[in-house]
Amino acid sequence: MKEYCQKRKSRNQEKLHKFLHWIYAQECRRLGILDYFGEKHREVNPICCDICGMDAEKMAVVWPEVKVDPVNSFSNWKKELAYILLKKENGNEK
Ligand SMILES: [Zn+2]
Repeated sequence: MKEYCQKRKSRNQEKLHKFLHWIYAQECRRLGILDYFGEKHREVNPICCDICGMDAEKMAVVWPEVKVDPVNSFSNWKKELAYILLKKENGNEK
């Protein structure tokens, strides 16, 4: 049992290490995810990731059906969190 727990802990620590590397790496997040699942990057996507230059304003242009408020959405985490929490408290969650 102890050996099983140690192996599991080691495996989970390795996963955590890979995840942290992915978060802090300065390379394309899409490529990192594809690499994790053993897939290759096939096409260039204009909506890629924050590392490749995607932000809320560009996303609103490329993906208009996704409602993004560039001023409040990603620029201030406190406003974003308040928006999410107040939305759920008021029962406005769709
Ligand atoms: Zn990218």
